[in-house]
Amino acid sequence: MDLQEILDDSHKVVFFGGAGVSTESGIPDFRSVDGLYNQKYDYPPEEILSHTFFMRHTKAFYDFYRDKMLCLTAKPNKAHLKLAEMEKAGLLSSVITQNIDGLHTAAGSKKVLELHGSVHRNYCMDCGKFYTAEDILNSTGVPKCSCGGTIKPNVVLYEEGLDDATVTEAVREISSCDTLIIAGTSLTVYPAAGMVRYFKGKHLVLINRDETSMDSACDLVIHGKVGETLDKIVIR
Ligand code: NAD
Ligand code: ZN
Repeated sequence: MDLQEILDDSHKVVFFGGAGVSTESGIPDFRSVDGLYNQKYDYPPEEILSHTFFMRHTKAFYDFYRDKMLCLTAKPNKAHLKLAEMEKAGLLSSVITQNIDGLHTAAGSKKVLELHGSVHRNYCMDCGKFYTAEDILNSTGVPKCSCGGTIKPNVVLYEEGLDDATVTEAVREISSCDTLIIAGTSLTVYPAAGMVRYFKGKHLVLINRDETSMDSACDLVIHGKVGETLDKIVIR
């Protein structure tokens, strides 16, 4: 069966995505050859994006974060837009994403489970006051709250745990859908990557440019661009 036939045969589709879903919007992923992990910085990005690094070198964290993680001019691409349409048509139940860029919501998706948080939510570590991504982008050095506290983005850094309610709902969605589309993810970041194992439906589909460890377990594997692939889907 091709992707269209699978979707025509589906009642509840769930989409599980990663950084590759946003590369067609111009946001670099981590592990592609042109991804962030293959560029040169003073520290490896895995280290910069850790809780320990944030606490110890907050300014260096924010220099990297503002420069590389806050892509606020990026627009939703064909993947984000098609998924929003599929949800509106009652075909797609939810988007589960490892991305922190907020582009699914910007495209109009309503049920988005952001496993790793969002750059659009930032809170003072002392008083809890909320700040937007623009507040962070427009700040210099370490962004400070009006109370003097340090502001922290609500993104899950390495060494930090995922939000329990989000994980529970994501597992519920994955284990109750008939079709799971995994796309644009190297499936190497845990525990997120392990969640796809809860799938027990009919059609497991994977759309990714490079090979992944799950290729052999899927009913359909498309080694191509996720935006181009989803764009061809006809919603009936
Ligand atoms: P990853 O960088 O490890 O892997 C991305 C995968 O997507 C690669 O296998 C690559 O082949 C594939 N890919 C890239 N562009 C594609 C395209 N157009 N079509 C199809 N496949 C494509 O990403 P990951 O597995 O999501 O793990 C990285 C972690 O980094 C995540 O936890 C995420 O939170 C974070 N991250 C987020 C963003 C974002 O919010 N946009 C960007 C970079 C990293
Ligand atoms: Zn404060």
